[in-house]
Amino acid sequence: MNQYKAALVGYGGMGRWHKTGICKTDRILITGAYDINPERMEQARQDGLKTYESYEALLADREIDIVIVATPNNFHLPQSCQAMEAGKFVVCEKPVTMSSDELQEMMDCSKRTGTKFTIHQNRRKDADYLAMRDVVEKGLLGEVFQIESRVTGSRGIPEGWRQYRVAGGGMMLDWGVHLIDQMVMMMSPAKVTDVYCELYNVNYKECDDGFKLIMHFENGPSVMVELGTSHFISAPRWYVCGNRGALIIPNWDCNGKIIRASEHEVRWEEEIIYTKAGPTKTMAPRAKDTIEEIAIDGDKWNSDYDYFYRNLADYLDGNAELTVKPEEAMRVMKIMEAAFESHYTRSVIKCNI
Ligand code: NAD
Repeated sequence: MNQYKAALVGYGGMGRWHKTGICKTDRILITGAYDINPERMEQARQDGLKTYESYEALLADREIDIVIVATPNNFHLPQSCQAMEAGKFVVCEKPVTMSSDELQEMMDCSKRTGTKFTIHQNRRKDADYLAMRDVVEKGLLGEVFQIESRVTGSRGIPEGWRQYRVAGGGMMLDWGVHLIDQMVMMMSPAKVTDVYCELYNVNYKECDDGFKLIMHFENGPSVMVELGTSHFISAPRWYVCGNRGALIIPNWDCNGKIIRASEHEVRWEEEIIYTKAGPTKTMAPRAKDTIEEIAIDGDKWNSDYDYFYRNLADYLDGNAELTVKPEEAMRVMKIMEAAFESHYTRSVIKCNI
């Protein structure tokens, strides 16, 4: 097993987290950083990193095998290509680029230089997602026909570049990439056949501060992904329905429950039920003896963030495939573009992504 050295460009919130939180394997050592902000450079030195006077100086350091690009989104393409031209392996933060054309340019650069890159689409091992997938993949809900994935808060878009279109701001590029990636990985190799999306501009005109996206996978369920930053009451993180049962995971605590049919046939109540909101027969609660409730214990599920760098070390040693491949990022990028097109044309976009 070899040991590799990495340096960061961009030592803000995420750059620092790569150093202090994510990269735990001693097979990859993050040893240096460059940031345009002197305060961030000072922070990097305090964290024990060598700092460089320019990005070019970082790239000229022969000790560095890997460059981690953690700058605002509009710098990802030029800085990643510059690093590949310098012969460095690139880990680029998500969203890899601002468009599929830009990503194609990055892939062409990789081909031309013979240098590879991966993308830090790192929410494939989040505890809540793993818990949800486990239930679906064990077939506990029967045939799943609807998945709702939501992340909602009420604090708006964070200050800074995320509020500006030119920098690749907006919540679709910020969070959409993760939530769509999770669904694409779960449904793969099924392709997305259509996309409908509404972007929200509740408090910000320039960039979307949320979105609701509905997509269908071939022969698969309807998937809704919603992200909101003006939602003072949060809807559940996961709500999944199958023909034998349903799952709910309310929030990131990952505790949840499954309610499933203990018998297949639906037993109708003889009488109409009179609720506070009026009478119903169709929506009457099921008899208790026809359902079972199974708790999802959040403590059983843990997020695994450092798998990304363990995988990268294995890949560089020649012992594994990259966990996040550029082609996978391209699918996500194209789905996001279909979502933007859907919003601006107020139409369903037919596709084969
Ligand atoms: P940030 O604003 O906290 O940090 C960005 C840093 O880049 C700042 O320190 C800034 O001074 C520096 N910078 C700006 N332009 C630069 C340039 N040309 N050269 C060198 N440094 C430059 O932003 P952040 O939250 O750390 O986000 C950075 C990237 O990480 C974004 O692409 C974002 O989408 C991504 N991110 C990913 C995740 C994830 O879960 N994978 C989470 C948060 C952010």
